[in-house]
Amino acid sequence: MSGRLTIAGLGPGAEDLVTPEVRAALATATDIVGYIPYVARIAPRPGLTLHPSDNRVELDRSRHALEMAAAGRQVVVVSSGDPGVFAMASAVFEAVEAAPEYLSLDIRVLPGITAMLAAAAAAGAPLGHDFCCINLSDNLKPWELVEHRLRLAAQADFAMAFYNPRSKSRPHQFARALEILRAECGSARLITFARAVTTPEQAIRTVTLGEATPEMADMRTVVLVGNAATKRLGPWVYTPRSAGGVV
Ligand code: SAH
Repeated sequence: MSGRLTIAGLGPGAEDLVTPEVRAALATATDIVGYIPYVARIAPRPGLTLHPSDNRVELDRSRHALEMAAAGRQVVVVSSGDPGVFAMASAVFEAVEAAPEYLSLDIRVLPGITAMLAAAAAAGAPLGHDFCCINLSDNLKPWELVEHRLRLAAQADFAMAFYNPRSKSRPHQFARALEILRAECGSARLITFARAVTTPEQAIRTVTLGEATPEMADMRTVVLVGNAATKRLGPWVYTPRSAGGVV
């Protein structure tokens, strides 16, 4: 059998949310490559080699996966959620661009359920109108760009989803993000903190921007902010489908 490189999304955590297509790719894999906690989700079996690696080594990891696929192995690179959302798919293509001989490889990208969609479903429908999605980490872009996009998205009255909101290495930036949001959206705007969605530790909490504190988010949290029309309905939060906002 000739080699193949599959880049697969494992979904937000629940086994039921791994797609049948991804399950099939995992079942025929010879090698699984990815960040340690994601590879830990794959059950070991004879004939399968697990290659967990540390965070922030995406390019090395991609090159290794490409080398193994070129040598004839059935390699699956795993990401949590969807592999195209702040994850491994782009890293693999970046590695291919640097070594175009790999363009002849059999490469497939298999989608997964990304955190913001699982979080939105758990909360109701906070992303039910136009929305945007911003990675708050300045690991791969300047913080000024994060602030700029945040401000413009808020001014455009998008509902918003924030990935990587807060980590131990950058504890202050999320406080700054909340400040910007309060200034642009007002303190009554709804914000949902969705932690460890679809896992046994799932916790969903909706407050107003006035009540929100930076400690409500960590690296296992995806944060959803409503648009001007987003409201509570019993235990739910939803954004009407009709156009709201001010132009
Ligand atoms: N590719 C992933 C995102 C990777 S970035 C996806 O599509 O979901 C990592 C960030 O995703 C985390 O900091 C957090 O903001 C979010 N995240 C991933 N899984 C999550 C979950 N189960 N619950 C809440 N947030 C999650």
